[in-house]
Amino acid sequence: MKIGILALQGAVAEHMRSIEAAGGQAVAVKTVDQLFDLDGLIIPGGESTTIGKLMRKYGFIEAIQQFAAQGKPLFGTCAGLIALAERIAGGEEAHLKLMDITVARNAFGRQRESFETDLEVDGIEERVRAVFIRAPLITEVGLSVKVLSTYNREIVTARQGNLLACSYHPELTDDFRLHAYFLQMAREAAVGI
Ligand code: GLN
Repeated sequence: MKIGILALQGAVAEHMRSIEAAGGQAVAVKTVDQLFDLDGLIIPGGESTTIGKLMRKYGFIEAIQQFAAQGKPLFGTCAGLIALAERIAGGEEAHLKLMDITVARNAFGRQRESFETDLEVDGIEERVRAVFIRAPLITEVGLSVKVLSTYNREIVTARQGNLLACSYHPELTDDFRLHAYFLQMAREAAVGI
């Protein structure tokens, strides 16, 4: 499976390493014409306002919306989760508006700017190592969204069809199982399951 990592800003190299470690082929995506032959796309963590601005500037908003409309899987991590959301709490304009969720940015407060924990994730057998850095939370989900994990009863991993999103950075650990889960979504989408 050929997986693109949106390479406008943020943790690109780490996602590439994780996808390759999980058995996929990783490509850094800088222009919209690179999307056509991908089996899936990851939107990395970083700073969502910057990623949003750059997506608008380089034509990625419509191109990624079309990519998703073709049934191709997307995985948003941290700022990438914010990029996928239909709604951002506090009235900020949302970006791709693909996933029926509301997100709150920087939702853990200053005391907990960054921390690591092990999370139970539905569909993955043992706990997943998760690094949270100025992380967002999912505060509301639509009916077609499945919650895959919570932390202190707050939603931090969710899936809606071919859209996967998490509040944390799975690419900053040597635990590649979330990337393997996404590769499986890409395989299933490619054969039309
Ligand atoms: N706080 C960042 C934002 O709101 C996200 C942080 C991250 O991706 N690690 O965009």
